[in-house]
Amino acid sequence: MTQEEVFRNLTAHCKEYGFIFQSSEIYDGLAAVYDYGQLGVELKNNIKTYWWDAMVRLHDNIVGIDSAIFMHPKIWEASGHVAAFNDPLIDNKDSKKRYRADVLIEDYLAKLEEKMNKEVEKGRRKFGESFDEAQFRATNPNVLRSKAKWDEVHTRMVKALDANDLEEMRQIIIDCDIVCPISGTKNWTEVRKFNLMFSTQLGNVDGGVGTIYLRPETAQGIFVNFLNVQKTGRMKIPFGIAQIGKAFRNEIVARQFIFRMREFEQMEMQFFIKPGTEMEWFAKWKETRLAWHKAIGLGDEKYRFHDHDKLAHYANAATDIEFEFPFGFKELEGIHSRTDFDLGNHQRMSGRKMQYFDPETNESYVPYVIETSIGVDRTVLAVLSSAYHEEELEGGEKRVVMSLPPALAPVKAAILPLVKKDGLPEKAREILHSLRVDFNCQYDEKDSIGRRYRRQDAIGTPICVTVDHDTLADNTVTVRYRDTMTQDRIPVENLHKVIADQVNINNLLRKNIE
Ligand code: ATP
Repeated sequence: MTQEEVFRNLTAHCKEYGFIFQSSEIYDGLAAVYDYGQLGVELKNNIKTYWWDAMVRLHDNIVGIDSAIFMHPKIWEASGHVAAFNDPLIDNKDSKKRYRADVLIEDYLAKLEEKMNKEVEKGRRKFGESFDEAQFRATNPNVLRSKAKWDEVHTRMVKALDANDLEEMRQIIIDCDIVCPISGTKNWTEVRKFNLMFSTQLGNVDGGVGTIYLRPETAQGIFVNFLNVQKTGRMKIPFGIAQIGKAFRNEIVARQFIFRMREFEQMEMQFFIKPGTEMEWFAKWKETRLAWHKAIGLGDEKYRFHDHDKLAHYANAATDIEFEFPFGFKELEGIHSRTDFDLGNHQRMSGRKMQYFDPETNESYVPYVIETSIGVDRTVLAVLSSAYHEEELEGGEKRVVMSLPPALAPVKAAILPLVKKDGLPEKAREILHSLRVDFNCQYDEKDSIGRRYRRQDAIGTPICVTVDHDTLADNTVTVRYRDTMTQDRIPVENLHKVIADQVNINNLLRKNIE
């Protein structure tokens, strides 16, 4: 099965089992807007809890806030979003499809990289044991040709982005013979800029209206509360403020399911530090955040850092943590060294001091900031796309299993009476009652036990507990594990511990501090 097919099946599966629905579906949907269903919301909440606890509970110098989505419009002038939060867009005149010009060029560069890697693999096969990759890359004419092209296009793109040179962006697309993936033609329009902020009207007391924006990031709510939190929390630099909340961007090129949405959720943390210490903290947060991702257990090889070619208007160093989605490595989290850009601009725009008084050195300064910014929905997609498996079992039977990390699974245990009579449902409900305070459990008595196992596999429930006639006699149950499909017979009183050992979010948190 190709990656695209896996992705298509995943999207259909998410709908069928109540993870994610298209927004406004009965009205034919609203593009790039999605609703989380009964299971999706549990998964999403577990991810948010994991992040919040790892950032706020495990760090005694990080606290959380929840700021409003609506903010004073001047905030977005100070932050640079009114002037510079733009995407360069280009249309293909034949297919009428719109693309981000920088993404078209990046895809072209990724193809060149792929070509070089293929050549290297060919060499590896040919030379076997004695293969020296570095030497091969430095001397093979095909690799060198692709590398020279890559360097040339990459340099041009970075320069054009830096200079905001839209004509040059278009010229690169033309010169590289980049075609529209739909029409296959090179019939491109000019490149234009498009601001990504949604605006709306706020009624004033005097009857007038003013334009305000739906926040495109949660970070500014943290910056404008920097002094409130620092003073009331008696925080000493270095310290951080964390926030989880909705953000809105008028993404024009919105495809790939919940990867790129118009309304999405971010988990952001701004870490306030002394100027001059930013590179040290930048390195520290890169490492801390990567460890957080790896602890989820999707596979260490699925993550990589990607340093930014073009720094955003606020940053002096920036990297992405990329994840290998079914459509390739893409950004999951951004880590930025934002200098004093935001606090400095708010100080100028508001006329209020945004400074920290250091009691040890007796000096005041505008702190520098390291930001970690991760998308909740992209994390949901990373988890779901890694977990989704179609398996062929012995005897030719198929099963779809969501091998979700147990700590994040929406349902932790399913309690299943073998038959719907003889007092088994009552016993099963008694067990359910004793577990549900600690774990999200499901009770299911419909259909054969095999079908019920399949249903739980499909939603990623790590443990099924079957109550049968022996349970009534000796108070033991069968525990069946999702991934291995192995079964154990255990006393009911051990059930709580067996489930907790597998599904506790603390298991992930512990890996963050090891
Ligand atoms: P991209 O280059 O993919 O547009 P970005 O660099 O603009 O992303 P940031 O501004 O750094 O993204 O936002 C931080 C995080 O918020 C991203 O790493 C991503 O996980 C998430 N995010 C950003 N835009 C979207 C979106 N439209 N839909 C879902 N998540 C998003």
